[in-house]
Amino acid sequence: PETITVQELANRMAERGGEVIKSLMKMGVMATINQIIDADTAELVAQEFGHKVRRVAESDVELGMLGTDDKVEDLRPRCPVVTVMGHVDHGKTSLLDAIRQADVASGEAGGITQHIGAYQIEVPSGDKITFIDTPGHEAFTEMRARGANVTDIVILVVAADDGIMAQTVEAIRHARAAKVPVIVAVNKIDKPDADPQRVRTELLQHEIVVEDMGGDVQAIDVSALTKQGLDTLLEAIALQAEVLELKANPDRAATGVVIEAKVERGRGSVATVLVQRGTVRTGDVFVAGAEWGRVRALVNDRGEPSESAGPSEPIEVLGLQGTPTAGDDFVVVENESRAREIADYRQRLLREKSATAGARGTVEQMLSAI
Ligand code: GDP
Ligand code: MG
Repeated sequence: PETITVQELANRMAERGGEVIKSLMKMGVMATINQIIDADTAELVAQEFGHKVRRVAESDVELGMLGTDDKVEDLRPRCPVVTVMGHVDHGKTSLLDAIRQADVASGEAGGITQHIGAYQIEVPSGDKITFIDTPGHEAFTEMRARGANVTDIVILVVAADDGIMAQTVEAIRHARAAKVPVIVAVNKIDKPDADPQRVRTELLQHEIVVEDMGGDVQAIDVSALTKQGLDTLLEAIALQAEVLELKANPDRAATGVVIEAKVERGRGSVATVLVQRGTVRTGDVFVAGAEWGRVRALVNDRGEPSESAGPSEPIEVLGLQGTPTAGDDFVVVENESRAREIADYRQRLLREKSATAGARGTVEQMLSAI
């Protein structure tokens, strides 16, 4: 039967999930964001929002459902995906660079140098950690707004000489809204005026109670400059990941999220994809947002060609017909005609959406002109 999740329905209509839930409540349907509703109900909701409904492709309606059918016995441990957030100049970029150099798998080569928007490191214990290398709230918020939950853990960077600032508070709010656990990296402790204890106290006002104050949030003193505390921070991440028991089925068609996408001379449209389930391989046909493609080549975070990428692995994908947007879903489908059908359908939705937005703008302009 045709079904869709509330989230996916909201995404298709470019409406907030909360608004869709409210609309369902009015119809007497109590639903959560991840709930599956049938096509008839979805159609009613869509009409409520003033959308014309065209049930073109059963395949497309079910696209959003891929991945919910994994059996528990097919799940395998996967490594955590980590995002670094914090106030400007508190050291997000410096910390990501320092961590990249701490990768043991790169050996004497001196760390991962290739830049594809995300990278995976191996820590001395053999554990792996994936870092999304696009720090900043915009990327995080934008992706979340598009229904993509990319991150398992947020590293909140707070400069020990500066303390909690406006964007620190914002980051805390985002992490909380996404229900993602936070690890605090109290950075710049090499500075003479560093006061890491003050940071811990200030965090209390934002309901973050660190472990040494009786809470359950790990706070690690670090210096991205001297690399002090870096190993402890990586251990803290591994520990948090263990608690989360992260798992995915690697043996299925891949699904994931576009982290970034651009057109490159001589390479065409290139997307960095974070694989969340399954394994993507060269030759696979896929949909990414309203674009589709066939994987011509995969390039890993070291700039090396790769045959495949599994759960929690960031990978550069070549072979797109167009350029998708950060936060778009990435789904491997069975053949080219289905990929085209879904991409066409989504393109049409986008056009309709922008046409409606344009019309609305005109009315508003008319009103304000009176
Ligand atoms: P971002 O805006 O959060 O990405 O911050 P950056 O990584 O660009 O760092 C801002 C400034 O702080 C730069 O001048 C860095 O060199 C400096 N910085 C970052 N981490 C440290 C640190 O641990 N100690 C010291 N002393 N300076 C740091
Ligand atoms: Mg930066």
